[in-house]
Amino acid sequence: MSATVAQVLAALERRYPLSLAADWDAVGLICGDPASSVDRVLFAVDPVQVVVDEAILGGFDLVITHHPLLLRGVNGVGAIDAKGKVVHTLIRNDIALASAHTNADHANPGVSDALAQAFDLRNLRPLDELGEGTGAGRVGDLLEPMTLEAFASLVAATLPATHHGVRIAGDPSLIVRTVAVCGGAGDSLLALAAACADVYVTSDLRHHRAQDHLVDGGCALVDVAHWASEWPWLNQAAQLLVADLGEIGYAITAEVSATPTDPWTAHRPSTNLGSHS
Ligand SMILES: [Zn+2]
Repeated sequence: MSATVAQVLAALERRYPLSLAADWDAVGLICGDPASSVDRVLFAVDPVQVVVDEAILGGFDLVITHHPLLLRGVNGVGAIDAKGKVVHTLIRNDIALASAHTNADHANPGVSDALAQAFDLRNLRPLDELGEGTGAGRVGDLLEPMTLEAFASLVAATLPATHHGVRIAGDPSLIVRTVAVCGGAGDSLLALAAACADVYVTSDLRHHRAQDHLVDGGCALVDVAHWASEWPWLNQAAQLLVADLGEIGYAITAEVSATPTDPWTAHRPSTNLGSHS
């Protein structure tokens, strides 16, 4: 039996309660009719045109993205900019759009659990606990200690390829056992990571925050592409949604977008070593 958009979103909200979302966030249904039927759901990180085009080609009824489309106040959705065009394309093709953002970051299992599980971390606990195992970031233990160099190689081999790649701050020979992770921009958790982990994996780390953390004796850092850090959650969420709806008699299929939406499209290592060597 097909589910409606409303029934799929109710199942999504049981996994990712709206009460776990930050107060500045905009999660839930963005576009679409709650009464429309849903057979196929596409999960993606970003609600951008290439993802909507993928949904049209694949015959999807609902796109669930991690990032909201309209986070800041808007006065209209005319097809005069990229976001307006996304809205119009969705409506013309009868495709609904919803997001699970900070509610999915804070839920258990959530975005950082999926990132931690990608590295096979054990004994997961929140870095910044909200209660009952929910909260931002996760910290866990590697099955076997390894060097920072080896761990960074594991990260590079595990997450989807991006031109951003994997940047490392710390002694490559450092032995790491305890790993903190935060999907998305995690610099607000640097101090918590420093207090409990040998290395912290997150994205969007800025010069001053990273430098201050390191000179204060903080843990090693592994900086990955924002898109790549949140991508493991898509598969986890898709599997949970299909199973949860199946348990109450609704058969849907869910797939993960094959389109990388990391904004960086090329990378060149710096080669001018003469000025500071
Ligand atoms: Zn994000």
